[in-house]
Amino acid sequence: MGPLMNNNLIGYRCVACGISQPAEPPPMLCPACGGALDAEYDYDRIAAQLTPAGLTGDTERSLWRYRALLPVAGTPANRSLQVGGTPLVALPVLAGKFDLSALYIKDETRQPSGSLKDRATEVALQHSAEYGQATVVAASTGNAAASLATLAAHHGRRAVILVPAGTAAGKLVPIMQCGAILCPVDGTYDDAFELVETIARELGWYSRNSGSNPVLSEGKKTVALEIAEQLQWEAPDKVFVPVGDGCIIGGVYKGFYDLLQLGWTHKLPQLVAVQAAGSAAVVRALEAGGEIEAVQADTIADGIRVNLPRDGQKALRAVRATDGFGITVTDDEILEAQHALAKGTGIFAEPSAAAAYAGFKKALSQRLISPGESVVLLITGSGLKDLPSAGRLVEQPEPVAANLGAFREFYERFTAGESA
Ligand SMILES: *Cc1c(COP(=O)(O)O)cnc(C)c1O
Ligand SMILES: [Zn+2]
Repeated sequence: MGPLMNNNLIGYRCVACGISQPAEPPPMLCPACGGALDAEYDYDRIAAQLTPAGLTGDTERSLWRYRALLPVAGTPANRSLQVGGTPLVALPVLAGKFDLSALYIKDETRQPSGSLKDRATEVALQHSAEYGQATVVAASTGNAAASLATLAAHHGRRAVILVPAGTAAGKLVPIMQCGAILCPVDGTYDDAFELVETIARELGWYSRNSGSNPVLSEGKKTVALEIAEQLQWEAPDKVFVPVGDGCIIGGVYKGFYDLLQLGWTHKLPQLVAVQAAGSAAVVRALEAGGEIEAVQADTIADGIRVNLPRDGQKALRAVRATDGFGITVTDDEILEAQHALAKGTGIFAEPSAAAAYAGFKKALSQRLISPGESVVLLITGSGLKDLPSAGRLVEQPEPVAANLGAFREFYERFTAGESA
């Protein structure tokens, strides 16, 4: 018995060599060259089902409002946890200060598990269900694991997560709370990643590993669809995206590409890849003009700490095809940006997400943004999962005696330090 099909999906095409694959059975990497695959759609058919006016009247708030543009046939029975539909927060005062026509934050800290990874997980869980694969497996030390554990719990699915031994307990507790099966592996993240690929192949489980499954970037592209819809189908001039494996920026590109094909927008935004200076394989390739070479990654921002980006081809294309650029930021700049963002906007981002703001500030200082442009910063995840790194730049005050005099003295000392 074959699965249901989304007839809008034509098949998959290799980003590297251009060879196309049928939609069935769902492929992973290009069989000819090992390159990453793009989902290809029949845009005329989609336009007959989905229109901007139709979306305006749709009460579905989750990413499933774009189901006609996703590589799945149906939607999950329960969509009430609401993946997607995150706010686009306007920052008019900062926009004025920086001489921009508009500045926005796409606030992905408000996803169910606190990061943009939920978009990929939600679509991957539906995809795996449609192909009868009950168990989903992933290697991760952070947000992808939290996301899979959270949404598997919501949908009543089995999740198996492999982590390198020694992963911080703070990261593991939420996964276990959500009832996922957690298997520490004696080895590195790369060892866990390879083991997941083997498990998926041998046991017939569904892999949520980034970089091999084209469905993940299709899920992540919904963030671009939302940004465009929230701007009344106007693409911004620039979008700043923190980049690790490159799956997010590849998905952002694909979302804006789909909209341009549908004729709902009239341009692609310039995509800016922001990386930590100690983990900059993509930016180095952009600057050198060639292919990606592995680095020895070292940064406080663990969501973008990557030796060899697994979606590097899509990341390079996203920047090159939109006439964007890459930019690196130091860990100090990331931590300062994290604090400035929380203080200036109320949005508490994790270091990997704050990197987008740090990259934006650096691009401004290097005059890489023109006056009057509209800019969106993709704030990809919440700071609440990683309090130790956020604690570095803020000082914990000592307790005072429980009387007014002691408080007055404390308050004066505190506010004096503020203006220093
Ligand atoms: C995973 C992640 C990124 C990087 O995404 P890639 O697809 O690996 O480039 C950025 N920010 C956060 C919060 C993440 O979890
Ligand atoms: Zn190929």
